[in-house]
Amino acid sequence: MTTLRFYGGVGEIGGNKILLKDKNAKIYLDFGQSFSFGEDFFYEWLAPRTANGLEVYFEFDLVPKIEGIYSKEMLRFTNMKYKKPNIDGIFISHAHSDHWGHLPFVDESIPLYIGEFAYNMLEVSKKLYPQFFNYGKHEKIKTFKTGDVIKVKHLTIEPVHVDHSIPGAYGFIIHTSKGAVVYTGDLRLHGPKAGMTKDFINKAKKAKPIALITEGTRMGNDNMPKNATEKDVMEKFDEYMKKAKGLVVANLTARNIDRFMSFYKAAVNNKRKVVIDTRTAYLLDNLKQYINCPDVKNDPNIKVYFRLKKSRDFDEKDYFVWERDYMGKMITFKEMSKNQNKLAMMLSFYSLMELIYIKPVNGSIFIYSLSEHFLEGEDNEEQRTVLMNWLKHFDMKMLKAHASGHANINDLNYIIKEIKPKKIIPVHTQHPELFKKYHKNVVMPKYDKVLRI
Ligand SMILES: [Zn+2]
Ligand SMILES: [Zn+2]
Repeated sequence: MTTLRFYGGVGEIGGNKILLKDKNAKIYLDFGQSFSFGEDFFYEWLAPRTANGLEVYFEFDLVPKIEGIYSKEMLRFTNMKYKKPNIDGIFISHAHSDHWGHLPFVDESIPLYIGEFAYNMLEVSKKLYPQFFNYGKHEKIKTFKTGDVIKVKHLTIEPVHVDHSIPGAYGFIIHTSKGAVVYTGDLRLHGPKAGMTKDFINKAKKAKPIALITEGTRMGNDNMPKNATEKDVMEKFDEYMKKAKGLVVANLTARNIDRFMSFYKAAVNNKRKVVIDTRTAYLLDNLKQYINCPDVKNDPNIKVYFRLKKSRDFDEKDYFVWERDYMGKMITFKEMSKNQNKLAMMLSFYSLMELIYIKPVNGSIFIYSLSEHFLEGEDNEEQRTVLMNWLKHFDMKMLKAHASGHANINDLNYIIKEIKPKKIIPVHTQHPELFKKYHKNVVMPKYDKVLRI
């Protein structure tokens, strides 16, 4: 018997945790934390600490009570007894936390299978932001890449690359005793590496799957009717920069390397140097062997912004040892202030303070280039108001440029029709029922219920 059991990603975007059981083999597809995790009970500093373990989460039923998966340490103050794990492996599709975020809870003896790039990105990110990128302790970490064939008991698992808003994303083809089960992870067809998603579709199709577990982020309520591509984003950046008379500031993340490259190319095109913070410098510098990105230390188009610290004279002692590596590329607020129309700076919400020192001149702009959710959702109202107040104070025009990391409805339907699975199981979507509008053989997953395939 082959079964699936869903402990997350059901009727919500993210938090995927899918148990696949076939004969005596048990594997998990992703082990994520949903975006809304804990928001009903925790607020700002009212949040669980590591020392609490799983007790707090069990109290509010936020984490499923599954035997034989969690670590001794995490179960310490709970009424669940520690049991030796009976899971053969956890397969992580990519390095977004809605796919790996609950890994710190699991027992360290369970083998963790993760793409080579995703592993390195988590390692580098953990060093920079230990509080956000703690993915737990694992005795057996096995990295994979496309072309690998992984054996787990009688199961054969093929990871196949897909295009998404972070490099190193995978879908999986799992060959079970009943036939192939395909899992998309997160994917898109309109991105710069659409060819990778096509490879995945072709391989999945050939496997003649009995079931397709598919993401459906943009199924329904699609706020991007036009399927904006990364090329469109680059063109917008370019257009904005052409018109900007002062400083160009953009809120984006380098973890979305395609987005960073769009920004970089537009800046170079407009003879502006790209200003990044030390963390972004470290991230790019340590991942450059895996991705196509500029060499921070040697690229003449890149400057690294050093914040004012205690000594107030940019003394090397003020900075972390890893930051000092980039001092040769240093730019400070003083230089920035004088050359605003020759610079394009990456700046996050939490670094807005720097504007006080840089003092944006007339004609400076702020480009918002992250998920639209922040600009529209009710939950972010307070933060959004603060951002708008800052921009008003500095008289900076707010502009937008974004393309989704997920396939739109048409592409989703195309992917499903191409793969031709016997059953379609929608996850990672707020509207699983909408799949029925387009397809006959849709099976609704239910939280914590066993689904026979
Ligand atoms: Zn996701
Ligand atoms: Zn993702």
